[in-house]
Amino acid sequence: MSRINELNKERYDTPKEKVALDVKNLKNFRYDMDHCIKCKGGYWVDHTYSPGMKFTTRCPSGVWNDFEAYNCAGKMRIGIALDEGQLPWSDKLLEVLYACTLCGACDVGCKRNLDLEIGLTLEAMRVKAVKDGAGPMPAHKKIAQNIEKSHNQFGSPHGNRGKWLTKDIKVAEKADVLYFAGCSASYTNPEIGQATAKILNASGTPFSLLQDEWCCGNTLYSVGMIDEATAIARRNVEAVKAADAKTLLTSCAECYRMWKVDYPKMLGISTDDLGFKVAHLLEFADEAFAGGSLKPAKSVNLNLTYHDACGVSRLCDPWTPWSGERGWMGCIEPRLHRRRGTSGLYAQPRNILKAIPGLNLIEMPRLRENAFCCGAGRGTKEAFPDLAGSSARERLDEVREVGAEALVAACPFCKNNFSQAAKANGEKLQVLDISEVILASL
Ligand code: SF4
Ligand code: SF4
Repeated sequence: MSRINELNKERYDTPKEKVALDVKNLKNFRYDMDHCIKCKGGYWVDHTYSPGMKFTTRCPSGVWNDFEAYNCAGKMRIGIALDEGQLPWSDKLLEVLYACTLCGACDVGCKRNLDLEIGLTLEAMRVKAVKDGAGPMPAHKKIAQNIEKSHNQFGSPHGNRGKWLTKDIKVAEKADVLYFAGCSASYTNPEIGQATAKILNASGTPFSLLQDEWCCGNTLYSVGMIDEATAIARRNVEAVKAADAKTLLTSCAECYRMWKVDYPKMLGISTDDLGFKVAHLLEFADEAFAGGSLKPAKSVNLNLTYHDACGVSRLCDPWTPWSGERGWMGCIEPRLHRRRGTSGLYAQPRNILKAIPGLNLIEMPRLRENAFCCGAGRGTKEAFPDLAGSSARERLDEVREVGAEALVAACPFCKNNFSQAAKANGEKLQVLDISEVILASL
């Protein structure tokens, strides 16, 4: 038999296994874990994107603790041992698993070389931790209790949720655009909710709010509490459908990722099948600037740098459910469009900032898919404040390096974490949300 025929025979004789992108079963990602080549491509920024010796890392967890267990290579080995029942749960194991911001940097880094689903594997490991009764961390359980009791992350009274609204903001009873403020803009960062609402008003876009807004459940999903997160996803999606909105608008990067990616993932549907469009303020303002409904007339005289928050960058490619078969040489059928972070909102914030007179946008070395996570999101800061601080300080070094006097992001988690780290450093740096910068220009 010729070599070609031998290969073809091997190809067709190799048994096929059923596989799905379903984080409820870690076995779905066994191939991905087994085929990690320990290249550390999730830890380092590819040298083709690195302008020098500094700022070459992209894994906050690995920078915080240099033991291999804390980066993607180590975590894949740990996943195999967990799947085989060879590694008992322990406090150290939980720390390794949860002291990770689920930022997606290793996922997109890995996919530059190999089509391995590292991000989903990390999520599946946390789902298993919870199913096995080991996870999540105590701080996460407290957040879960807060959400159950008062429908917000912080345990603040549910009745105070609408207090961010000031009298000068016009809200419609019913509108095509529904603004989902989220827990942060509702309780800890009212300035973001107010700025977003005023931008909508200034553009002449009527918007409504949910009658009874609940937390998006982002932390629940991120820490592996998939049953609780799925119940919230169902409830929230139905609430938006009942409001008959065409667009669900967020100002929080984490809410955005949750609605656009993780809700469809949990509900077993595509992002396109949600029944409404999910948009971030970045998309709205970019279109409004381009279309002329918003005019940045006032100067904002700042040397400013933009931080690509994970939820509006590499984590927000739309979701499509996939199940199929894996056979010879790991080939899968049907074809799968891998999520590589290429649909992130990279152009929009830069278009917006460049359109504002007086504002000088300076880029940091790590940007777009390679941006270094602020360290706060997805339950990290609550359980590992030291890791969140280390990550923020690493990013602030970069801000200082490029000489920016202000740092802007499109996520309240980033704003708060950077502000606290800058204050602790005694830095004069202004840390702003992009909604505040846009409003200042109108
Ligand atoms: S980038 Fe992928 S293959 Fe390389 S060490 Fe990380 S998980 Fe393994
Ligand atoms: S998700 Fe982010 S923090 Fe976690 S291992 Fe990957 S790069 Fe590191």
